Amino acid sequence: MSEIPYKIYLSENEIPSAWYNVRADMKTKPAPLLNPGTGEPLKAEDLYPIFCEELSKQEMNNDDKWIDIPGEVLDFYKMYRPSPLVRAYCLEKALGTPAHIYYKFEGNNTSGSHKLNSAIAQAYYAKKQGLKGVTTETGAGQWGTALSMATAYFGLDCQVYMVKVSYEQKPFRREVMRTYGAKVTPSPSMTTNVGRKINEQFPGTDGSLGCAISEAVEAATSQEGYRYVLGSVLNQVLLHQSVIGLETKAALDKVGVKADMIIGCAGGGSNLGGLISPFVGEMLRGENQYEIIAVEPASCPSFTRGSYVYDFCDTGRVCPLAKMYTLGSNFMPAPNHAGGLRYHGMSTILSQLYDDGYMKARSVKQTDVFAAAEQFARVEGILPAPESSHAIKVAIDEALKCKETGEAKNIVFGLTGTGYFDLVAYQKYNDGVMDDYIPTDDDIAASLAQCPKLG
Ligand SMILES: *Cc1c(COP(=O)(O)O)cnc(C)c1O
Repeated sequence: MSEIPYKIYLSENEIPSAWYNVRADMKTKPAPLLNPGTGEPLKAEDLYPIFCEELSKQEMNNDDKWIDIPGEVLDFYKMYRPSPLVRAYCLEKALGTPAHIYYKFEGNNTSGSHKLNSAIAQAYYAKKQGLKGVTTETGAGQWGTALSMATAYFGLDCQVYMVKVSYEQKPFRREVMRTYGAKVTPSPSMTTNVGRKINEQFPGTDGSLGCAISEAVEAATSQEGYRYVLGSVLNQVLLHQSVIGLETKAALDKVGVKADMIIGCAGGGSNLGGLISPFVGEMLRGENQYEIIAVEPASCPSFTRGSYVYDFCDTGRVCPLAKMYTLGSNFMPAPNHAGGLRYHGMSTILSQLYDDGYMKARSVKQTDVFAAAEQFARVEGILPAPESSHAIKVAIDEALKCKETGEAKNIVFGLTGTGYFDLVAYQKYNDGVMDDYIPTDDDIAASLAQCPKLG
């Protein structure tokens, strides 16, 4: 019998009191955001019209290794953190693997995902700045839900542009947001200039995250006392999500386990970035080695098939330019893609770490992802979010490799959330009508050709 418990819990006062900023330890810093008009690097002040001031400073901060978590945010964290690190004994047994599998479970809050970790921080800084409210986009709906919980807590107004296809497919998600007081608009809408333009250009479009971002930014900058907030991709979001990695590291240390491999799903990169930050920090400082794997959908493969170039962050081209692994800002995954992680680009921090060889990436087909999700649900009990199931798929693959080689590797993966609102996707899978559209090289080349040409 092993001494490691099924759930490795930290106590409340072991929640980290500061976020870890991995950029401080990176020798090659992530490339700066550029002004889309002039091509010049942006300063924090340039972001003030769009983002809260404190968050703009965090976005640009490549130097401070630790940033204190404000007391009010820490108090909120205490309502649902620390999240458990679970030893997946039942999955190990079902697979017959000698590997030891651990997952950090972030689905234990009403929003159902890790996104609340950054939502509450962003709402706090908006409140502290004396703003009336915030605007945002949401795809699958987890971010909008998390943000509406956070803004309700601080008494802020919340306007959510929800990708149209999700708005229609996920009415329950929408109602949760409205219950927390958010105003939810399907995107592209006719309420913004950019929404009207996109509707004209692509009549009947299902929408995309890129469109919804453009609309939310326009809504923020055209209303007094509003700023825009984003649930992924940005440096500030990875910073807030470092709470995941810090807790994971503390829990592993507590039971004397060293991770060999760390796996996470990657949409815009925030959960993965947060999970790996303290571990990558050790790699950057030459203290330790880990094998890190980002997992993305084969239908939206920014790391594995994208280019590392400056691109627009949004379809409407109103946001700053970011250097990232991208498929081009006009890239839209096939409408039958049900597994989330639909964003065309990737965090600039993770893009630089990937380019420097600190992590690997793998893409997986959605039917394989749902097969892994069901396998996991049946033995570990938790119904995983499709996004999270990308990580499960690769964790299972790696554990099965260990079965062949007889290695008892310690595999840690991020279980970012639950899948209760994704049952239309599960239904498709269960009915055998889910397919795997994978973009062709021509599809990707056509979309990448529209990236801005610089200098
Ligand atoms: C949003 C989301 C993701 C992907 O976002 P990242 O920023 O890449 O972490 C993954 N899992 C769940 C459950 C999500 O809600």
